[in-house]
Amino acid sequence: MQALEALTRDARALANGEVVTAPEAEVARQMTICNACRYCEGFCAVFPAMTRRLEFGKADVHFLANLCHNCGACLHACQYAPPHEFAINVPQAMAQVRGQTYADYAWPPALGKLYQRNGLTLSVALAAALALFLVLAVATQGRLWGAVGAGGFYAIFPHNLLVGLFAPVFLFVVFALGMGVRRFWRDVSPATSGAPLSLPASAEATHDVLRLKYLDGGHGDGCHNDDDAYTLSRRRFHHLTFYGFLLCFAATSVATVYHYVFGWVAPYELPSLPKLLGAVGGLSLMVGTAGLWHLNRSRHPQHGDAKQKPMDLGFIALLFLTSASGLALWLGRGSAALPLLLCLHLGAVMALFATLPYGKFAHGVFRTAALLRHAVEKRQPNPIGLGAD
Ligand code: SF4
Ligand code: SF4
Repeated sequence: MQALEALTRDARALANGEVVTAPEAEVARQMTICNACRYCEGFCAVFPAMTRRLEFGKADVHFLANLCHNCGACLHACQYAPPHEFAINVPQAMAQVRGQTYADYAWPPALGKLYQRNGLTLSVALAAALALFLVLAVATQGRLWGAVGAGGFYAIFPHNLLVGLFAPVFLFVVFALGMGVRRFWRDVSPATSGAPLSLPASAEATHDVLRLKYLDGGHGDGCHNDDDAYTLSRRRFHHLTFYGFLLCFAATSVATVYHYVFGWVAPYELPSLPKLLGAVGGLSLMVGTAGLWHLNRSRHPQHGDAKQKPMDLGFIALLFLTSASGLALWLGRGSAALPLLLCLHLGAVMALFATLPYGKFAHGVFRTAALLRHAVEKRQPNPIGLGAD
């Protein structure tokens, strides 16, 4: 039955003109070997999901690739890893397909190619160019250096201008990522039992996402980075980055409510809620991204897909620049440098927003969707009946 379903899916894929790519075929090959071995069953969600399958069609491969956290555990444990002739390197094979899925599911499809071009140089150059544009615009008015008075930021860039610039881009980011993950969900749902979301499954997936559960290696000692030693650094720096980002977002949301609902106009000072959330979030984001940068640079060369490193570093750099310039702006309030600092901060934020839908940010969205499908699937009877999860 399982084989028949996989064949049906493949036939449908062929009928739709979907060709199985070389990276997808490689994941299917490796999963077939892993399915006979099963040594890594307790490491993460990928292996229990794998044991529910005998064949690996395109949708199965897309689902498993986005379920993988690239923790490296199965590479260091594998007796068939290179130089063995089986050449099993699951994190690398999964990462290659994962990168491909971001581009395949991108909305609009024509912009999927941006994932390949989104790198460190482009990200930093975009932030610098946007900041320079703002600097020149303010300088031509003779207001780049000097006290700004009671109006604060809005004396330099009026509130409505900032809303007019950022709101459409933010809405586009949400819409583009939403459309992309919707297509992914539609594709992988039939391959993952087709059952709808339930409350227990949603609660479990939310718990796993918020705790970054699978970066603990399945035993609590952590995953791998430079070598075969366990480390919790990746989990901790991911947590600092993730929650720092959420706190900064919360600070902006609360400030929007203050402005439109209560008529309390920025700037806000401590101990106001927006400032508290922004300060803690900004610091957390800075420390988290600095740590992730270091870990990325020292990562074991066989983990993941080396071609995606520039995209990873570009995203980390923009998050760091945004948080660092935001904190510098706060420290420089009241000084003559405030207009210049504001231009630099807005340039970094604009570049971050512009690259969000076609960069590393996508991994959080797609992985969450894969964890949700996993939580749904594991609650269904095992289709090949060889044991429970
Ligand atoms: S990665 Fe290697 S050790 Fe782990 S299940 Fe696959 S073949 Fe077995
Ligand atoms: S790299 Fe980690 S998360 Fe990915 S399949 Fe291997 S053990 Fe699972």
